Amino acid sequence: MEPIIFDERKDQIYRKGGNEPFELACNRDSLAGAVSQRACVFCGSRVVLYPIADALHLVHGPIGCAAYTWDIRGSVSSGPELHRLSFSTDLRERDVIYGGEPKLEEALRELIKRHSPKAAFVYSTCIVGIIGDDMEAVCRKMTEETGIPVIPVMSEGFKGNKRAGYMAACQALDRLVGTGDTTGISPISINILGDFNLAGEIWILRSYFERMGVEVVANVTGDGRVADIARSHGAALNLVQCSGATQELAKMMEEQYGIPYKHISYLGIEDTAESLYEVARFFQDKDPGIMERTQNLVREELAAIFPEIKEMRKDLEGKNAAIYVGGAFKAFSLIKAFRHLGMKVVLVGSQTGTEEDYRELEAITDEGTIIVDDSNPLELSAFIKEKDVDIFVGGVKERPIAYKLGVGFCDHNHERKEALEGFVGMLNFAREVHRTVTSPVWNFMPRKRKSNLAQTVKTAVGESS
Ligand code: SF4
Repeated sequence: MEPIIFDERKDQIYRKGGNEPFELACNRDSLAGAVSQRACVFCGSRVVLYPIADALHLVHGPIGCAAYTWDIRGSVSSGPELHRLSFSTDLRERDVIYGGEPKLEEALRELIKRHSPKAAFVYSTCIVGIIGDDMEAVCRKMTEETGIPVIPVMSEGFKGNKRAGYMAACQALDRLVGTGDTTGISPISINILGDFNLAGEIWILRSYFERMGVEVVANVTGDGRVADIARSHGAALNLVQCSGATQELAKMMEEQYGIPYKHISYLGIEDTAESLYEVARFFQDKDPGIMERTQNLVREELAAIFPEIKEMRKDLEGKNAAIYVGGAFKAFSLIKAFRHLGMKVVLVGSQTGTEEDYRELEAITDEGTIIVDDSNPLELSAFIKEKDVDIFVGGVKERPIAYKLGVGFCDHNHERKEALEGFVGMLNFAREVHRTVTSPVWNFMPRKRKSNLAQTVKTAVGESS
């Protein structure tokens, strides 16, 4: 079977190799009818803001939009857990006709009274954009009445793609930043941006920074607290993980408060080490001992994980991996991580990659690799069969694709329950890949390869061979 590629999507797929110059269209709206793997604007904003654990998160819209609830997101909190509750104004036909503002006001009043949050985020969904509720006015009124920041998040689902949701979230966060007292913040201090504390990963990172002698002012947004974010403009440096989610906030903070930012990654050995060295280099004028402390940290952490990784590599050498993730930045680190395991990445794609991201992917991948933007299940299935993939790394929407094709799956998205960041995260990742790829279950559920696909199709339609 040939890959099913819609004409309109041809320029969003690239095969490395040959004489064609690299070009990949991206950041455009998904094709109607192609069933994109990408979520809507509202979801993008919710992904970013939701891990702020002491804030109220109210979805202004029909109940279905609130489906992204606590049970499928892995962001954990070291304290309050208000973010684990999912609230919706549950707009109905009557509200669509007469307006949802009274319902929103009433919901905010009741919820703020009941849960005493430190702030409230109100998410606009498609229907709110259509009926034109004045969320700004309702939020202003409720801020005055309750004394906490009530912040509208302008994230109508139809407004663009998931990246527009990141922007809406950053604009909402920007209203909070700069409102707190920065007294007592160390000159050697950072904010962690774009990490969501999946399975407690921020705690791993914070322990590294603590050992380096760096103060973390705010986590934006994993295990986030409203008060920390409000004073985060007092930090000396912003570290931005993930290419999309919080980069705009970092840019806003640079413009408004003069805080520089650096792109980093805590996934994989090299990227984690390089990120920590980057921070050490930034502060070494102010703290001459920081580089040595960082080198010791890296040395100790590597010594603890390398022997086991080396053992697992013996079984994984030569196997094929496919990656389809939200932000392309994560894919860079994953490619390097797979190389450590002796594996080859044959397919890589993302929901929200930029032109710059894809250029970088093209530069670091091997010949023959398929690079894809904003894919759909048909394309992904066909490529996985064609490339004879052993493990597919993705999120909740990619898991059934892998299992239906008899391919191993590794959850690397917001639903994951395993910490995969930092050095210990690399070991967890290697263990998960090893367990999955070498599992005997594949003897009972044989992989659907390109070579045996014709037979599979015949069987499915009831023809005898
Ligand atoms: S696309 Fe619109 S209706 Fe659908 S989940 Fe997103 S906000 Fe809700």
